[in-house]
Parts: sequence; structure tokens; C-alpha cells
Amino acid sequence: MPVTAVVGANWGDEGKGKITDYLAVESDFVVRFQGGANAGHTIINDFGKFALHLLPSGVFYPNVINVLGPGVALNVCGFLKELDELIARGVPEPALMISDRAQVVLPYHELFDEYEEGRLGESKFGSTRSGIAPFYADKYLKLGVQVADLYYEKRLRERIEMSLAAKNVLLKDLYGRQPIAVDDVLPDLLEQGRRIKPFVCDTVTLLHKAQARGKRILVEGQLGALRDPDHGIYPYPTSSSPLAGFATVGAGIPPYAITRIVAVVKAYSTCVGAGPFVTEILGEEAAELRDRGGDAGEYGATTGRPRRVGWFDAVATRYGCRVQGATEIALSLLDVLGYLEEIPICIAYEIDGKRTEEFPVSPRLEHAAPVFEAMPGWKCDISDVRQFEDLPEKARAYMQRIEQLVSVPVRWVSVGPRRQAIIELSMFASQSSNK
Ligand code: GDP
Ligand code: MG
Repeated sequence: MPVTAVVGANWGDEGKGKITDYLAVESDFVVRFQGGANAGHTIINDFGKFALHLLPSGVFYPNVINVLGPGVALNVCGFLKELDELIARGVPEPALMISDRAQVVLPYHELFDEYEEGRLGESKFGSTRSGIAPFYADKYLKLGVQVADLYYEKRLRERIEMSLAAKNVLLKDLYGRQPIAVDDVLPDLLEQGRRIKPFVCDTVTLLHKAQARGKRILVEGQLGALRDPDHGIYPYPTSSSPLAGFATVGAGIPPYAITRIVAVVKAYSTCVGAGPFVTEILGEEAAELRDRGGDAGEYGATTGRPRRVGWFDAVATRYGCRVQGATEIALSLLDVLGYLEEIPICIAYEIDGKRTEEFPVSPRLEHAAPVFEAMPGWKCDISDVRQFEDLPEKARAYMQRIEQLVSVPVRWVSVGPRRQAIIELSMFASQSSNK
């Protein structure tokens, strides 16, 4: 059975949680393959409103098995707390599996995240301070701890000692803090291991067997293409790849298995944290879009920080869809734009007096100015529309212009934060009205 990926085409917060929750009804497995509790996936369904951080967005379906793959940054306390909260709010206990190869976010990763942002001062990256960058740095320095290590005390002690030897030099000399002893962290980690034991298994074999039996697997990305460490806005990416291509690694499924790649594309732009953001708007214009955006304004689902906002950027989104390998688009938050007389779309960048339609490398991106065209607004509420034909003509034109600029078919248009607020297009509907 082909695997479906739901991934972000922009800077994150495109509405992946909503789309995954919607599509999970057709899935047997929903798998997170990268990132950690720094994700904030908002889901509004019959159980209420939730912001999922580490739990996959299939947790609302009793028949779905939710998997945290080897590529995930597992914050054990965060995971257990989120699960408890979900159950306390009346959601039936979901089936959850944690890869024995996933690595654990250690208490000092969160500390280092905070100290490093403090050290950088004005030049900070705007981290969510969940320890993600120090976690992945340790993983690739081979100083990380895998879930399986939690069950081998001697090995765990040795690994932590090895890591702390270097960490303590930084703590003392770079950050002017107290050193950490292995016994400050070991008992907690052993306890964490005991608590998650019922969830831990070899998820790679689990998914392999599921695939062989024709089960439907959905892999869910965190953040978006422009935050990819290789292809994104370096040095402002996240620390793991949010690309569908990485899902094969981070979930442990064959590269050829992912045949359907749903890129969630936001009908306007938002960006949390630092970094170049070409179509950004400021002042009152931004305040209005921010307040009308999302389900209750554009504020971070993890941090509550106001999101930077801007107009739709076709240059960045086409590139985002390309590096994702998008086969179809879920266009989200179209309803938000219903208040505008005219809606600017960025169709090109101007860099040092030259126009380009290709997304540039970071040093050039810093100098890019947006080239806008204006689309007429539809000036009405479309949140109750469920059929493509019932959308106002100008809303269809806006969607079709995006489709044309990005060159990937739009398969869904999301018109509200709730699960049901979505229009599914048959390819025919979109194409026939293009004529
Ligand atoms: P994610 O990280 O990609 O899952 O996205 P977030 O949940 O961080 O941000 C998306 C925001 O938009 C949340 O507040 C969602 O509730 C909201 N949302 C998702 N889809 C729609 C939509 O089609 N219309 C509106 N108005 N809000 C939406
Ligand atoms: Mg989010």
C-alpha cells in the first residue's frame, strides 16, 4: 500500500495538524518522523481544541496506531503529560508506539537551548527552547541516548558521563554555570524508561509488516520545507529535515513507498522566529491579518508568540513544494482572506535590480524584495462552503492562480480550523473551471 506524507510547504504552521487529523480517518498508522515537542499542531474536532506537540495527529481515531519513529526527538515527560491531558479531556486512550531507536531529549538539552539563545542575545534564532538544536547536535556528535539505552543502566551511565565531560566545560567556561553530575540526571532517566516501557517497540519492523499486509500509513511532518537544514533558510532552519524524503529515514520505510506527498500550503504566509521573510508585512495591516488568521489569531501553538505574517509567496512555495516532491496541495486558511478588497501575491523577487522566480540562497535572499500582483478579493465568508462550485468566483481564481504559479494540483481547500471545514476537489472540478 502506498504511503502518504503530509508535510509543510512553507515555514511551518500551515495547518498540517488539521489536514492530518482530516486524512487520518483513512489511515491505519500515523507516524511522526522528525522534530519533537517544539511542534504545535492545532486540531479542532468533536473532542474540542487541541495543540499537539509530540503526539501524532492520528490520536483521535481509536483504530489508528500512532508511531513516534526513530527520527523523533522524544521528550519523555512532555509525551506522558500530553497523553494524560488528552485522556483527561475525554479522548479514548490512543494506540501509541515509540521507536526503541528514537533518541531522548535530555534535561541539559533544554538548558543549553536556553543558555545559547541567551548568549546570542540580539542574534538569537528564536528557538522554542525545547532543546531541539542541542539534542540533534548531540545525536550527530554521537553523544545522544537512544530509548533502548534507558534499559541498560551501565551503558546509560557511561554515555551520559561521556557527554557531560564536554558539556561541563561549556557550562563552566562559556555560560558561567554550575556543572552537572551524572547522578543528577540518571535516576530520572531510568524512571522515564520505566514509564514509557509499554509504548516502546521496534517500530521499523512494525511498519514493515504493516506495509506488507497492505495497511495504510500516513507520515506527518513538522514545520515546513523552508526550515529544512539543507534546503531551507540556513542558518534559520530547524535541526531535522521536515521533508517527505526524510520520512523514509526518520520513520524507517522504503524510499519508494511514499508515493503521495500532500504539501500543506497556506493561503498567506506566516513565520515564527528569526530569518528572512520576503513578503512580511508590518504595522496595522499585519495586525489585522494576524488577528483574523488561524483559529484565534496567528499566535504560536507552542510558545504563544505572535507570528510574523505576510502575503502569499509563490517563489518560496513553488520551491517548498519542489523540495518536498509534492504530488498534491492542501491549500489552507483560504477563509481568512475574505476581508480584503485586493489580495497581493508575490510572483517573483527582485534582487540587486534583477528579477528572479527561483528561490535564492540565503545571502541573496536577505536582499530580495517581493514583486506583487494583486488578485481581487471575494469579500465574504466562505467558511461554510463545502463544494468547489459554491466558492465565489474570485476565491476560485485566487486558488487557481496559486495552483498555476506553483504547478502542483490543489486537491483540498481548507476553509476553517475544524475538521469538517474542507472542500475536496476532484481534479476535474478545478481543471474544468480553469477553461
Ligand atoms: P501546523 O503546525 O501546521 O499544524 O499549524 P498550526 O496549528 O500551528 O497553525 C495553523 C492555525 O490555523 C491553527 O490555529 C489552526 O487551528 C488554524 N487553521 C488550520 N486550518 C485552517 C483553515 O482552513 N482556516 C482557518 N481559519 N484556520 C485554520
Ligand atoms: Mg504549528
